[in-house]
Amino acid sequence: MNTFEATNEYFRKASHLLGLNQRVQALLLNPSREVKVSIPIEREDGTLANFVGYRIQHNNSRGPFKGGLRYHQLVDAEEVKGLASLMTWKTAVVDVPFGGAKGGIACNVKELSERDLEILTRRFVHQIQEFIGPTKDIPAPDVNTNAQIMAWIMDEYSRIEGYSPAVVTGKPLELGGSPGREDATGHGCAIIIERYFRDQGKSLKGIRFAIQGFGNVGSHLARYLEKLGASIIAVSNSGGGVFNPKGLNIGELWEYYKNQKTVAGFPGGASLTSDGTLTLECDCLVPAALGGVITKENASRIKAKVILEAANAPVDPEADEILEKQGVVIIPDILANAGGVVVSYFEWVQNLQSFRWALDQVTAELRKVMIKAYESVMQIATTKKISLRTAAFALGVGRVAKALTMRGI
Ligand code: NAD
Repeated sequence: MNTFEATNEYFRKASHLLGLNQRVQALLLNPSREVKVSIPIEREDGTLANFVGYRIQHNNSRGPFKGGLRYHQLVDAEEVKGLASLMTWKTAVVDVPFGGAKGGIACNVKELSERDLEILTRRFVHQIQEFIGPTKDIPAPDVNTNAQIMAWIMDEYSRIEGYSPAVVTGKPLELGGSPGREDATGHGCAIIIERYFRDQGKSLKGIRFAIQGFGNVGSHLARYLEKLGASIIAVSNSGGGVFNPKGLNIGELWEYYKNQKTVAGFPGGASLTSDGTLTLECDCLVPAALGGVITKENASRIKAKVILEAANAPVDPEADEILEKQGVVIIPDILANAGGVVVSYFEWVQNLQSFRWALDQVTAELRKVMIKAYESVMQIATTKKISLRTAAFALGVGRVAKALTMRGI
């Protein structure tokens, strides 16, 4: 099942629970705009390359479209559509005034030089510039994109439209980025999982985590979890993984990763495959890499009792059902990893007001928003005796459906 079908499956479940009428359902199932462009560039080595880029805008009933930009060889329209739809529900769950969008370029960043990446990004901005903007659609980082790429987007867009820092979030601090944005997604995940275990009468001390993905989200989350006393027993990325039942030293792993660009071969543990983290004996499994990694093929081999979805769409609906029957609690992506878009919202607000917040203000506000969303989702799940995913979708879909109905079709 692709990401779009999977997201719509969860959407239908929530719509049924809400008794949403068919007309509104039909309007919320499909994206409002799909932009597909070709991006030819002359590469540093003199060859010509042509890439395909997407920006898909799902729904803007609650505010401008908002969502990340992914550079990866597996990017395609169905994946981007699904991720755009997830953004619509996510921004509604945390109640920030945005809609949902996503974009990406099908490319292998490992084969591109820094100069190639810059030219590719700037050309992409030219191709989509009429569809993005501070009140239209605001991109942000996702897989294989970072603050530098956001800076090029801001610069290129500003050349066309005049100085516009609010066109993109996740920028470097020097260009109007927000303190706390880079680690916001991992930080938000840590806030949620700490609260979840507290509700079970436990602290994170000694709780064993296995994390797939050590990029922006996975690495910052690992650092927060370690600070909270958790034991990170395994980490993997695309090059392989590392496992230590006594807990990995995340500070040392971080230093190793910075030099080697992979966690594979880290001397502080035994080696593991990229997927090895998924089926390890642990208390909490954290998929923090790509989507669709937990399917009906491996769901019954998952040993964790809690899954924290730091990645978008890591568990497909068939696996979701199997895991629910196994009694596994899944903290869904649209709640768990929403910290990034929350601090993106703070960044956008700061840009519009030309005013800089201090880090402690960002951190305090992030915590407030995440905990409020967590409590709302938990309350729906408990009163209706449904999974956290269905509860989160019901909260998000319900809010968007109300806004859509009030605005009129
Ligand atoms: P990133 O590019 O910084 O890191 C991705 C990580 O995944 C890398 O460590 C990479 O090696 C690993 N990976 C890729 N393929 C893998 C494989 N087959 N097996 C194991 N590991 C693999 O990306 P990121 O920004 O950390 O995003 C990770 C996930 O979090 C994505 O699903 C993204 O959509 C989601 N997310 C990101 C943000 C954000 O603010 N960056 C916000 C919300 C959700």
